Amino acid sequence: MKKQKSNLPESSVLYLVPTTIGNIDDMTNRAVEVLKKVDYIFAEDTRVTKVLLSHFNIITPLHSYHVFNEKMQTDKIIELLQQGKQIALVSDAGLPGISDPGYFATRRVLDSGFSVIALPGANAALTALVASGLPSNRFYFFGFLSHKKNLKKKELEKIADLEDTIIFYEAPHRLLETLELIHLVLGNREIVIARELTKKHEEYIRGKVKDIIAGIDELKGEIVIIVKGAEISQAQQLLNKKSISEHYQYYLDLGNESMKAIKQVAKDRGVAKNFIYKEIHKNI
Ligand code: SAM
Repeated sequence: MKKQKSNLPESSVLYLVPTTIGNIDDMTNRAVEVLKKVDYIFAEDTRVTKVLLSHFNIITPLHSYHVFNEKMQTDKIIELLQQGKQIALVSDAGLPGISDPGYFATRRVLDSGFSVIALPGANAALTALVASGLPSNRFYFFGFLSHKKNLKKKELEKIADLEDTIIFYEAPHRLLETLELIHLVLGNREIVIARELTKKHEEYIRGKVKDIIAGIDELKGEIVIIVKGAEISQAQQLLNKKSISEHYQYYLDLGNESMKAIKQVAKDRGVAKNFIYKEIHKNI
């Protein structure tokens, strides 16, 4: 077990600093202060970050950090932390590590015994979710689906039974294909397309996926797709209200073998098979 107290470390810390997702006013005071005080900033695209830094008169030296050099640059970050330096990591937009570089460095820095402090800030997924009007109490962040149509379909099939709201990031030129696959695999669900969040042309399109496919022209800009989770049938709800052993018995009575019945009960209830197995065997 390792504990990290984050209050005011003076040195050897990696800060994960959110930038904006389009509106410069969403940059927090704390994010600006941290970018000013650290010794170095590692940025996904130094050209993008230079614009941001110059807006806030930040002159901290910049290094690049992107998916193609993250191993080498993480070594450099660790070296700097060993010298007692403070580092900030930023991506082009929103939170580093969310469909952006950041995880690799975070893991290595923690494994090397240094502190990682994340600042809260702009994020496209959560911004879209809370305004979507779809349930936000339980959700599943998928990020980008595969670019390949057959893999994308398989990825959707894997989450077809999920009852939680699902959040996807998508590029505008792949939107139509993705919506058609969502319709094919997940059915005619309620969805929300959140576009150009925090920017001048911000827009939410809410409705059934089939109507949206029919009603939209080519959309431009940055896009989040929020999809309502699977509806569970009334029969399923009744089964889930039974005790675990009654639920298990129901599948045995249908002629299933014990392990198959356990697997089905676990699937219905969204819990591990092991848990159902133990519950059933503790009553025997
Ligand atoms: N790290 C970012 C975050 O915290 O949200 C996400 C970066 S990911 C590379 C970029 C994707 O996020 C875009 O393709 C789009 O799906 C979504 N996105 C980013 N900014 C957005 C915005 N202003 N409006 C809608 N979606 C946005």
